[in-house]
Amino acid sequence: MSSNELLTGAVAVRDDAAELARLRADLSAQAPNLLIDGHWRPAASGATLDVDDPATGAVIARIAAGDAQDVEHAVAAARRAFRDGPWPRLPASKRAALLFALADAIEREQGRFALLESLDAGHSLASIRAGDLPLGLRSLRDYAGWATKIAGEVPMRSSEQAGMDYFLREPIGVVAIVTPWNAPFLMVLQKLGAALAAGCTVVIKPAELAPLSALRIGELCARVGLPDGVVNVVTGTGLAAGQALAEHPDVNLISFTGSTQVGRSIMAAAARSNLKRVVLELGGKSPVLVLGDADLDRAARAIVAEIVFKSGQYCAAGSRVYVQASLHEALLERLRAGMDGVRIDAGYAAGCEMGPMISQAQRERAQEIVDHSLAEGARALTGGRARPGAGYFYPPTLLTGVESHMRAVREEIFAPVLTVMPFADDASAAQIAALANDSHYGLSAKLWSRDLRNVHELIGRIESGQVIVNGGGGEATLPFGGVKQSGYGRENGHVGLSAFTEIKAVRLGY
Ligand code: NAD
Repeated sequence: MSSNELLTGAVAVRDDAAELARLRADLSAQAPNLLIDGHWRPAASGATLDVDDPATGAVIARIAAGDAQDVEHAVAAARRAFRDGPWPRLPASKRAALLFALADAIEREQGRFALLESLDAGHSLASIRAGDLPLGLRSLRDYAGWATKIAGEVPMRSSEQAGMDYFLREPIGVVAIVTPWNAPFLMVLQKLGAALAAGCTVVIKPAELAPLSALRIGELCARVGLPDGVVNVVTGTGLAAGQALAEHPDVNLISFTGSTQVGRSIMAAAARSNLKRVVLELGGKSPVLVLGDADLDRAARAIVAEIVFKSGQYCAAGSRVYVQASLHEALLERLRAGMDGVRIDAGYAAGCEMGPMISQAQRERAQEIVDHSLAEGARALTGGRARPGAGYFYPPTLLTGVESHMRAVREEIFAPVLTVMPFADDASAAQIAALANDSHYGLSAKLWSRDLRNVHELIGRIESGQVIVNGGGGEATLPFGGVKQSGYGRENGHVGLSAFTEIKAVRLGY
């Protein structure tokens, strides 16, 4: 191996290719099984689903198509493990140790997890290695640390009654974890870490389009010594397996990440069944506000990087850009140059900066929204047409001449599509915030300005679960979640953990 190879990363690329070939062989030999009560078994119906590589459309694995019968078995196993098993009663330090062991086991396999996620969900290896993997591991370890810090309180007594008042914080019970395909590894780990740290047992229903990392996480849970039934994995479609979990009368909490439409149906199912608790991390249409004193080069680079990250299939991606009129042309020029320079390829190909979209259906939906807005007078400065050939590629697309009623501005496209609209140089903070707030979503907002007074004023006026000022992303310890129709509840840290616990108040008389 030459020193030049080491510098350029050519060695890593060669190793990736060999490991990818081994991974493909392992996946094609993998039996389509569910994990229920510590055992791998086919779906009760025997049905299976194909999983494809979004870069080629070729089938890479078969999974079990679990349905209501399998959900019944998995929830029963999780309930037994919660009611009779050791998990909720273990000393918290032992639960923490097992979660740290799980994080170590995943970290030892991180090379393989990166390839698996890239093959399954389509994203570039670089983005998974720099984003999902370290963030997922930090989240799991952060929750492991919280396991020993969950506590009730003993409030001051305010009456003359003899005795003692206190409250306990107990695990909520059986948790259903239902996740999307755009960040399958990270979404499962974030929810699993919180549930297990709190002492809950779980049934994971990963997205049918990208379920493979969840199955491997389930395998590692058993390997590090989590008791049978604590972590169950039921693959299958949303309508068959997901809905059965949402309707199930013995699930205490459903922690869901996905679309607003499905979130709505889950909330209705929870209300219809047993009033189970819900945490809903839903869609977004995040505004980006570029003020007159912004560092334009940095802002343009970050806006492009974020919209091509996961091919625009990132819930918090800034997709509606509003820029002060005097900077409009200069920003468009930079955005177009940045988008045109993005290297598009299979996520696992050397040098890839943006992979394909997840499916033909998602790509067609994006195209339909773009076409609709073009027909209404928007212009594509770059992109705007799906790439022909194999795989579900869609180029970075920059739409200008847009108006606020257009579908490209209103709807979550979940593709690498930006709309850009100018606002008057003398617009007030209230007027700028009104542009940002002109959406029924409120997940994230991005703000580019070096004027602290403006920044603080806008932070106060923006309706959003998160405001990112001058670049950067979320962190495992920072609460994440939306307002308006972007969701219900928060994830991460002790704020996220509290959803996985119930409070029991005790009055202890003598
Ligand atoms: P989706 O809502 O179609 O599916 C999400 C999960 O729900 C999948 O596992 C699916 O099988 C299941 N499901 C589908 N129908 C169901 C039903 N009727 N009952 C129960 N479960 C059902 O979402 P998606 O297309 O997989 O993911 C994209 C969406 O996820 C986007 O809207 C994106 O914004 C959102 N998302 C949000 C966040 C966040 O943290 N707010 C993060 C990532 C993705």
